[in-house]
Amino acid sequence: MALHVVDHPLLHDIMARLRARETTSDDFRALAYRASLFLVAEATRDLPTRPDRVETPLETAEVHRIDARVVAVPVLRAGIGMLQAFLDLVPNAQVGYFGLERDERTAVARCYYEKVPPKLGSAVVFLLDPMLATGGSAAMAVEGLRARGARSVRLVSIVAAPEGVALLASKVPDTDVYTAALDRGLNDRKYILPGLGDFGDRLYGT
Ligand code: URA
Repeated sequence: MALHVVDHPLLHDIMARLRARETTSDDFRALAYRASLFLVAEATRDLPTRPDRVETPLETAEVHRIDARVVAVPVLRAGIGMLQAFLDLVPNAQVGYFGLERDERTAVARCYYEKVPPKLGSAVVFLLDPMLATGGSAAMAVEGLRARGARSVRLVSIVAAPEGVALLASKVPDTDVYTAALDRGLNDRKYILPGLGDFGDRLYGT
């Protein structure tokens, strides 16, 4: 499993503001969108392209067009905060959903909803889950996608914990992870430290 920690000064600045306790939900949504643009750009860097030609106003230009079927799967509910950025960069992507919630006491994930496009074997699938904490829900989602035929799955997370990265490396080793930050670790409630708190709560002001 390859871990890609995206390093860009603009992304660092976005992360500083995203983490700050005083950031309002309104700003948090905008910052999550901007951070996701960087991560999606990096996670799609090696998508195959095919050569084509277009007529500019002056002459013919040799161009490249995306030559892959792309599926984005946000993990409900926090992953929704990354979806618009994905679709703005990959407008033809299909979208599926995984509804996973973790038990607040045990931090164990449970799947309560799943709707993904058929024939995932022919697609490059991007799982959008902003906080890779224990890795339990991400691993469950990747396994669910693989059970539905997906062969190429990438996880796009805004913040990752070493515990989650290690779990994915042991359970779904062929899944690459793209993140803006690899944080120190988890607290006893399985929140990422220093992290940014509960992503879903901050996104939706709950
Ligand atoms: N989910 C969150 O929203 N935040 C964490 O720190 C861990 C999991």
